[in-house]
Amino acid sequence: MATPDALLWSTALRGECQEGTSEPPMPYLIRRLRDTLRTRLGGPSDADVVGAPGSIQLRNVTAGYGGPPVFVGFNLHINPGEFVYLVGPSGAGKSTLIRLLYGTVRAQDGWVLVDGIAVHRLQSWQMDTVRRRVGCVFQAYELLPHLTALENVLLPLQLAHPRMLNARSLAAEALELVGLKAKMHELPGTLSGGQQQRVAVARAIAHQPRVLLADEPTGNVDSRASAEIMELFAQLNEMGSTVVMATHDEFVLSTYPARVVPLQQQPDVLDVAS
Ligand code: ADP
Repeated sequence: MATPDALLWSTALRGECQEGTSEPPMPYLIRRLRDTLRTRLGGPSDADVVGAPGSIQLRNVTAGYGGPPVFVGFNLHINPGEFVYLVGPSGAGKSTLIRLLYGTVRAQDGWVLVDGIAVHRLQSWQMDTVRRRVGCVFQAYELLPHLTALENVLLPLQLAHPRMLNARSLAAEALELVGLKAKMHELPGTLSGGQQQRVAVARAIAHQPRVLLADEPTGNVDSRASAEIMELFAQLNEMGSTVVMATHDEFVLSTYPARVVPLQQQPDVLDVAS
């Protein structure tokens, strides 16, 4: 028996009316996300365009944390609108690759192009450029415990876009999209793990990113919550967002098949070309 939350969630995803309510046929944010992404992405994807909107390219990347590099001469190309899993054993570099794309780990050498941004060229004070354009969901949710769900979505949005006038309504719409309208004024500590991760997804998509990154987003939630999160990612991908997700969740990989980029842990260096 589905809970009211689950009903709201699945209803929002399918864009259907909930019985006995006056919900619009498709949530406003979904419509706007779809329209924005369609407009931005335009025509067919072109694998040869360097830095095309929504695309990701790593060329000859060397990166790590100061010791032996995690990646050496690493190459990867992801087309706009692709759904890609990063798969490999613990320590293979999945999180590092997500951090490289999000700009929190810097390439020592090579190019990192994400949604047209040359991330490898940005200085630390310019990293907001990535935050404004790319969404990221982490395994541990990373919500601020003393802020409500709404404030957790709103604050980063306002920090990234100080002049945005409708930030509050965008944040509320994102929470509605993930099925948490009724919980938006609650603190994270009162929410289940799955609900907290949905807040984190709302935070990642509130600014309508063309690229969504996710690092083991289903790692801390039960199978029902995993399915809900994956359905949302699938929906965002169908609307045109590029999704890159690190996972070792066999249920997710078999239930939501997509291109897999295998990463292997190697003694000293990792060198994967695609
Ligand atoms: P995965 O996500 O596949 O488990 P990681 O990207 O977390 O792999 O780790 C890749 C390698 O980088 C591992 O050898 C790990 O020990 C190292 N590493 C990860 N994070 C850090 C860090 N903050 N400082 C130093 N080394 C790190």
